[in-house]
Amino acid sequence: MPELPEVQTVVDTLQPLIIDQVITEVEVKNKKLIAKPEVDEFKEVLQGSRIEQVSRRGKYIIIELDNDYYLVTHLRMTGRFVYAEQDEPADKYDYILLKFAAGDQLRLGSKRKFTRTYLVNDLQEAGSLTKLGPEPLTAEFTVERFKEMIASRRGRIKPLLLNQRFLAGLGNIYVDESLYLSQIHPLRTADTLTESEIEKLYQAIRKVLSEGIEHRGTTKWDYVDASGQAGSYQNYLQVYDREGKECRRCGSSLQRIKVGGRSSYFCPDCQ
Ligand SMILES: [Zn+2]
Repeated sequence: MPELPEVQTVVDTLQPLIIDQVITEVEVKNKKLIAKPEVDEFKEVLQGSRIEQVSRRGKYIIIELDNDYYLVTHLRMTGRFVYAEQDEPADKYDYILLKFAAGDQLRLGSKRKFTRTYLVNDLQEAGSLTKLGPEPLTAEFTVERFKEMIASRRGRIKPLLLNQRFLAGLGNIYVDESLYLSQIHPLRTADTLTESEIEKLYQAIRKVLSEGIEHRGTTKWDYVDASGQAGSYQNYLQVYDREGKECRRCGSSLQRIKVGGRSSYFCPDCQ
């Protein structure tokens, strides 16, 4: 699933391509991707509108239109936004096509159809968008705030970091990398973390997310940005998907366990 760095890269690649474009036609090949409204209204509201802004909140992509509506999309597994010229053949999983006056298109694809898009004039209507926790890369997310957030928690640290209402944007890959970097075992509970461990974890989260953006995201399976380019952060991962390989810090064999139903990679000696 695309996480904060991948979604940010999609937004960054979409911006120069679609801002100020006018949507003249909308083709919906599979309406399952549209969470709301009904498909007729979806087309009617989009057609004739101009794109004013593209931004990210957590793992959501927010496309702001000049008619006061927002097209809010959560890519989930296998979802992607791809920008294409009209004569480029669409992928068979490209289910929603926004056609622009200039002849190019923005295509929303989703091989496994888990992607959800909301066309709303109130962001509170867009899934859990307005219920997300703080953005980890903003100035408001300080180490003091993170300490306060952790202080009232007793559950395991890994599922807590995956909880979007606690902190927005992290998923399985960047959580495992953050825990490795801060040398915290994924089964530890939040109330057992020392002040210095919380500080290290805070720094680690900011570091892995920033580096992920710098390397244009992680392409483990099918992630590509809006111009069809893969990311390269997979080449820098320390633990994720490296079961049985050597820990680059201590040489021990990395392990995988299930935590809260999710595969978790860690070093049994460093963490
Ligand atoms: Zn190690």
